[in-house]
Amino acid sequence: MSSHHFSIEFFPPKTPEAFERLRETRARLYRLSPEYFSVTLGAGGTTREGTQDVAVEIHQEGRQSAPHITCIGTSRATIRERIMAYKSLGIKRLVALRGDLPSSYGVLGEFRYANELVEFVRAETGDWFSIDVAAYPEMHPQAKSPQDDLENFVRKVKAGADAAITQYFYNPDAYFRFVEAVRKAGVETPIIAGVMPITNYASLARFSDACGAEIPRWMRLRLESYGEDLASIREFGLDVVTALCERLLEGGAPGFHFYSLNQAAPVEALYERLGPAGYRPDSG
Ligand code: FAD
Repeated sequence: MSSHHFSIEFFPPKTPEAFERLRETRARLYRLSPEYFSVTLGAGGTTREGTQDVAVEIHQEGRQSAPHITCIGTSRATIRERIMAYKSLGIKRLVALRGDLPSSYGVLGEFRYANELVEFVRAETGDWFSIDVAAYPEMHPQAKSPQDDLENFVRKVKAGADAAITQYFYNPDAYFRFVEAVRKAGVETPIIAGVMPITNYASLARFSDACGAEIPRWMRLRLESYGEDLASIREFGLDVVTALCERLLEGGAPGFHFYSLNQAAPVEALYERLGPAGYRPDSG
């Protein structure tokens, strides 16, 4: 087994057919024995029920699941109900986020920022949950400045987080600088690098614009030049992301959280390529 951290993210599917496909994806990815599988909430219109259903299935399949919980627009009573439900099901890990609301929502609820959610979960459930929070090596898009974002991140971790998972990025120096700044601020919490495999340029470009992740110019130009040639996009993407992961490990990153987009093949391909860096698929 790997000596590095390794986890995988899913989103809850919207149809029974997609639920079934995710079961097949999971069965493949279980062979890689990641530490846990996280399940997003709210992003892309997914529901709390979907998140809970997938997280519970994973848990019942004997793997560690980490449902995401978001707090914006949500009351304390609702969050309490959710975390108590996860606790009573035996789930021991959460990814705690603020979340995003469409700007048309007027009422923001009882939480403004993720640090308040982390504090609340700790106050309600003590050390039951291992809590992961989000980090932004290229700055959260709504932050006032990198320094301000860093201070907010440090406050969130000090509220009781055990680890952080970064937004994906393709500039390793952004990650190294961010980690250095966090360490200077006296925080030693592991910062797991979030990794987005590249399989489709148009959707990656759209998503990156929205979440503030930069695709470097040289990568954009190469990806654009492949047009509809998906095989070339995948091959180039795999090369670039493998090199990124290798540099991150060399520079001391504790490991990776793969944004799978519910697909097994891109994660398997990366895992296979990273073999020499310390990953070994289970033989079973
Ligand atoms: P926060 O840490 O609260 O930060 C939000 C902004 O407010 C930042 O600009 C920060 O600098 C500022 N800020 C923070 N605290 C304070 C404070 N106390 N005072 C003033 N300013 C402050 N979204 C979903 O909807 N569902 C998901 O499942 C989901 N999963 C994600 C998983 C990961 C690993 C990552 C990186 C992101 C995920 N997101 C998800 C996106 C996330 O919800 C958005 O990026 C959101 O805008 C910020 O969430 P946060 O928890 O980082 O917020």
